[in-house]
Amino acid sequence: MRLYGKNYLKERLDSIAARDRLPHAIMLHGEKGTGRRVMANYIAKLFMCSAPPCEECPACGKINADAHPDVIFVKRECGGKYGLDESKSGQVSIRRIMESVVIKPNDGDIKVYIFEDSDEMSVQIQNTLLKIIEEPAPFLRFIFTCENTDSIIETIRSRVTEFEVPRPSVEECAQFLTDNGTPSAQARELSEMLSGNIGKCLDILSGEGDTPYIESARKAAAAIGRKDAYSAAAALSEQTGRPEFAAMLGYLTEILRDALSERCGGALTSCGRAEAQSIAKSYNEEQILDMLDTVFKVTADSALNLNLALTASYLTSKLI
Ligand SMILES: [Zn+2]
Repeated sequence: MRLYGKNYLKERLDSIAARDRLPHAIMLHGEKGTGRRVMANYIAKLFMCSAPPCEECPACGKINADAHPDVIFVKRECGGKYGLDESKSGQVSIRRIMESVVIKPNDGDIKVYIFEDSDEMSVQIQNTLLKIIEEPAPFLRFIFTCENTDSIIETIRSRVTEFEVPRPSVEECAQFLTDNGTPSAQARELSEMLSGNIGKCLDILSGEGDTPYIESARKAAAAIGRKDAYSAAAALSEQTGRPEFAAMLGYLTEILRDALSERCGGALTSCGRAEAQSIAKSYNEEQILDMLDTVFKVTADSALNLNLALTASYLTSKLI
């Protein structure tokens, strides 16, 4: 099984597993969409099969089909949201999961609990989980995934072994997309636009992605580049929901960072490279830094209950 952009991590894990030294609790950290779940499944195969996994035995087959009874994706079991106690909608709680860990595995002699997006867990939940990772039954293994480890409590971090999941290169991401049926020109374009983030590319291909926010951000950036306040205000007002507005600002931030990078001779990685180059032609470093400052400030403020239409026009007046 090919793991795109993960060769180094795969070989490292294979070699640790081959020496029978795979830790019982592992933390995978890396950007959302870069393959943390794929790696978690791969490690589950290392726990349950061999190093490297054979990909042919029943355990490998069930894990690849996301159907192994002893590989438990906890967030999914909890209905997509971690809660300590049972919710009204009847979702499973962390307490219920804690009760289930003592039950022996169904199929073999190993049971793997995968806590995805563990940075979404409250401190109280993390503290509750400590007990099961501190003194686990011999058949238990734990894999945590998170974007970054800042919000993970120190007592958990000291009990897990951390591995960084790298973002695939633009080439590897494009290769993944072509191997999975996307025409190569489109695969290349998407992969460049999203800097190799396979998950975000797949979201866009399935029609659920960030395309509208990216387009608004690119339009706003293009207007800023040609100092067209009217079009900038129009583009910045396109996203009227708060989360959508914040997502658009996130992409605009990346384009502005690219503009700065362009002026300093660095590499460009955002979804709007052409727009970044045009901004870099029209403004100097200090002005671009001011723009970034303004966008950061508005991003922080838009989390509050500000009027988004007013925010968009304020932003336009400060950016151009
Ligand atoms: Zn196998």
